[in-house]
Amino acid sequence: MISLKSAREIQMIREAAEVLKKIFAKVKPAVKAGVSTEELDALAEAVIRKAGGEPAFKGYRGFPKTACISLNEEVVHGIPGKRRLKDGDLVSFDIGAKVDGYYADAARTWGVGNLDENKKKLIETARGAFQAGLAAYRPGCRIGDLSAAIQTFIEAEGYQVVRDYVGHGIGRALHEDPQVPNYGRPGQGPKIEAGLVLAIEPMVTEGNYQVETLEDHWTVVTKDRKLSSHYEDTLVFTEKSYINLTGE
Ligand code: MG
Repeated sequence: MISLKSAREIQMIREAAEVLKKIFAKVKPAVKAGVSTEELDALAEAVIRKAGGEPAFKGYRGFPKTACISLNEEVVHGIPGKRRLKDGDLVSFDIGAKVDGYYADAARTWGVGNLDENKKKLIETARGAFQAGLAAYRPGCRIGDLSAAIQTFIEAEGYQVVRDYVGHGIGRALHEDPQVPNYGRPGQGPKIEAGLVLAIEPMVTEGNYQVETLEDHWTVVTKDRKLSSHYEDTLVFTEKSYINLTGE
């Protein structure tokens, strides 16, 4: 069931979204060779606690940390730990916060040190696909209109789009209806109405889009072990447009 949010609820989600923006501002400059993913996770948790919020992922189905930090061929749900970043790594940093009972969710992929052109393009394609999805928005359109635009953008860049993980409604829970696939056909899926809050999150693969989960039961990697990137923001749709709550 899709729940449309009131102005008061949107304000609460905005507060959680503001915390995520602060986290990105703090963590992005700390992404350097030699830093452990656990250290980045601790920075994120400190920002959330200082704001009086709670990490949305910690304890979610038993996830042990605040952020999901996935490197290189890892797509999503990587567990922060002792591993240290190396020059050329791709770092996908996915973070959720709960403030006064309301949730926001966002992700970025950053590079460590010097990246080759392919890695830079992979990062830009995830962000570009997100923007292409929103560019397809028209009042009264359907989720499928955005999904199709995201897929078209990614495939035109010569990459593929992950099917097994999709965007979602968000607000009173971390994951709400509707699902927001990053592939599909225009005109399909639920209508986008005022008060709908979505986390839209394309995941791009350098090679084939198929993924699998490692033995830690969390880390999702590309089956062919080629690189991946991720971009996610939480946004609210209004009568005729939308507001990106976690965007720059
Ligand atoms: Mg999400």
